[in-house]
Amino acid sequence: MKARQPVQIIGGGLAGLSLGVALRRAGVPVSIFEADDYPRHRVCGEFIAGLSETTIEQLGIDSVFVGAGSHRSVTWFRRDRTIRQQMLPEPARAISRFVLDARLAALFTAGGGALHPRHRHAEPAHGAGWVATAGRRTRPSSPWMGLKLHARNLRTSDDLELHLGDGAYVGVSAVEDGWINVCGFFRRRPELRIDREQPLPAYLRACGLSQLAERLAGAEVRPGSTKAMAGIAMDRRVTTGPGIRLGDACAMIPPFTGNGMTMAFTGAALALCPLVAWSSGEASWEETVRVVRAALRREFRVRLAVAALLHPFLLHPPLQHELGAVARAGLLPFTRFYQLLH
Ligand SMILES: Cc1cc2nc3c(=O)[nH]c(=O)nc-3n(C[C@H](O)[C@H](O)[C@H](O)COP(=O)(O)OP(=O)(O)OC[C@H]3O[C@@H](n4cnc5c(N)ncnc54)[C@H](O)[C@@H]3O)c2cc1C
Repeated sequence: MKARQPVQIIGGGLAGLSLGVALRRAGVPVSIFEADDYPRHRVCGEFIAGLSETTIEQLGIDSVFVGAGSHRSVTWFRRDRTIRQQMLPEPARAISRFVLDARLAALFTAGGGALHPRHRHAEPAHGAGWVATAGRRTRPSSPWMGLKLHARNLRTSDDLELHLGDGAYVGVSAVEDGWINVCGFFRRRPELRIDREQPLPAYLRACGLSQLAERLAGAEVRPGSTKAMAGIAMDRRVTTGPGIRLGDACAMIPPFTGNGMTMAFTGAALALCPLVAWSSGEASWEETVRVVRAALRREFRVRLAVAALLHPFLLHPPLQHELGAVARAGLLPFTRFYQLLH
């Protein structure tokens, strides 16, 4: 049998690790270079909506979701007022990145993959056999940032609480072992006096989410789980950059969709067969790149456009007000939006 050509992946997050697991199952030699190590907490709402069983099966990653929460009910709040309660059309998975990434990394190495943690790769990933999954691109001038922590003994009213504040939205949902993920997307407020170790309560109060801040004050915060990320830039379309890029490196969708993780897994599944064909010598690299990029564009075009359209309604008070009024009147076509976004 002809030797398979190796695939090298830059970035051991969800897209990189799940692709690595699936390629190893197909007998392809794979190396992953990861700047960080496992386990690690990440800025993420840890709420996975719209991930299909087919994608999980294609990637061979069902074991990493053992014990994940299955969430369906959602309550929306604007400032401290309830604006809507609803059921998602299908259950979403909830599992911390602390557990999920470490399980994927273990599955990859158990399948014979070469994982290089604490290895920040400096070279661009454009050459034959290189895949870029190094996550979101940051733009220092962007006013948007993410803050996240895990808390215990935090009262919650639903599987997922979505709080809309002034220039912010925050999700609250349970992950494993009694921990609750509190993760928000905020307009940066350089003027705010914050506790540098724990900036979230000050941000919650500043954007009008005082009740949530009070609930948090009485909770136990998980050591090491507080994470911040500045300079978040959102994408309206799939990248036109060179080579194969998956996950946030392909396109960063606004977090409220709970869809970025699903896009990372789906992108990996879409790239799998073309990369196996290239590795076996059945396709050129140029053809492989072309096929993968066309598949990513087809799959993600609509949801990126719809998410970009809806995002301002979650962030800006006058638009939030309109959204709340339409939702209370029962006129929001939620299921249709959900379908377009997933
Ligand atoms: C505030 C916020 C909340 C979110 N909430 C949700 C949610 O609830 N549900 C959801 O589905 N999505 C959510 N997302 C989006 C989700 O986190 C991402 O879409 C998802 O992590 C993308 O996976 P990825 O594999 O592309 O990137 P990542 O998981 O970010 O992995 C990229 C990896 O590459 C590594 N890396 C970076 N540079 C290099 C380098 N040069 N060399 C080697 N390694 C490198 C990083 O260390 C990292 O491990 C949220 C995002 C934000 C900002």
